[in-house]
Amino acid sequence: MIEQYTSINKKLDELFNGHPAADEKLRQASKFMDAVKELIELCGDDPYRDGLQETPYRVLKAFLEYTEGYREDPKAHLEKTFEVDHRELVLVKNIEFHSLCEHHFAPFYGVAHVGYIPNEKITGLSKIARMVEGYAKRFQVQERLTTQIAEAVEEILEPKGTMVVIEAKHMCMCGRGVKKSNAMTTTSSVRGLFSDRSDLRSEFLSLLQR
Ligand SMILES: [Zn+2]
Repeated sequence: MIEQYTSINKKLDELFNGHPAADEKLRQASKFMDAVKELIELCGDDPYRDGLQETPYRVLKAFLEYTEGYREDPKAHLEKTFEVDHRELVLVKNIEFHSLCEHHFAPFYGVAHVGYIPNEKITGLSKIARMVEGYAKRFQVQERLTTQIAEAVEEILEPKGTMVVIEAKHMCMCGRGVKKSNAMTTTSSVRGLFSDRSDLRSEFLSLLQR
């Protein structure tokens, strides 16, 4: 047990090595891991049995991964732009993402479709995927995720119009609560020309069907 304790302490040190507030992070991490132990007991299991001993550390590490987006500015990915003559819709479909519902800390995941009508600037297609990832890896609700993506495109690319559609499955609706395992939630956010023109929204949606 002592051996295991030391090995986890070592891993924790590595996790926060070089962080400007490493001591504070270590203190929070150890309180959090104690709380996970309490939770395991509260749920009716033994936190010291074999399979669960390192679980508090694993949960901590997983949460730091789920929330990597807090430690970056996702819209900065869009800042590498190119000037082009293209004035028609650019649509990046089926950008997979995994996020965490802020109400239950349960995963929700699905695809984002991001489209914009350039004004002068376009960005790399992979940059849009990275930006989506940055906003997804936070405590989220699907509605805010959709809005943040649309606003990032608006702010950095200054396009004539932006449209974002997200389709996702929420584990907090599947494994618990109402237990509807096939329910999908669709959200959309439109800006600029897309707000005014239904023909552009239809074009976007018909491209999604293909
Ligand atoms: Zn939820």
